[in-house]
Amino acid sequence: MTKGWAWTSLPRPGDCIWTPGIRNTMNLLKTNIFRQQFGNQPRVPQPCYRRKTYLCYQLKQLDGFTLDKGCFQNKKQRHAETRFIDKITSLNLDPNQRYRIICYVTWSPCPACAGELVDFINGQDNLSLQIFASRLYFHWVRVFQRGLQQLQAAQVSVAVMTRSEFEDCWEEFVDNQGMPFESWDKLEQYSESISRRLQRILSPSNWNNLEDSFRDLRLGSPSPSSLRSDSR
Ligand SMILES: [Zn+2]
Repeated sequence: MTKGWAWTSLPRPGDCIWTPGIRNTMNLLKTNIFRQQFGNQPRVPQPCYRRKTYLCYQLKQLDGFTLDKGCFQNKKQRHAETRFIDKITSLNLDPNQRYRIICYVTWSPCPACAGELVDFINGQDNLSLQIFASRLYFHWVRVFQRGLQQLQAAQVSVAVMTRSEFEDCWEEFVDNQGMPFESWDKLEQYSESISRRLQRILSPSNWNNLEDSFRDLRLGSPSPSSLRSDSR
């Protein structure tokens, strides 16, 4: 255990928790779940299934040593990002030490979660947060775009998962039975296309004034009716 952090709660059923020094593979993601949920294909491959939110995080010291890692899904009204924030907060990290947190998410954060992540990271100068998303959630809806812009403005790095992040996610969070990561068809092509889209969203020319963005974040997600006219 490193000075300045401690376990404050026991894992609950469904939690995916890893404890340093303790062999625990029972909560790793199954290979088919990883491939289905982290797949970056523009359309869900057959047979049809629902793409859910998974957030896998690694908390590291600056020397690269992993202090903690885990995986969250949305649960009832609590999104994976909220559960992640609660978990990191519960660790009571030493404010005098610097930490790096890497998150792999199947979907980029919704506006409400983006706002929560901004609130979480603001004022915590000792934390650097990097978010790598496999896919962009409602990327054509302005309030979702603004959420990503606000994360960037709060010094949170937002990027799209490339082969290297899929590989790392496979190594760290999947019950891979020692098998190497195998790419799916057109992984790189899809990643580059999603990345270009993200760059357009994050480019200064796409920004409206900050006050509007903050107001929209506080308003939360758009109603289903406002999304209905959009298509993927
Ligand atoms: Zn959310």
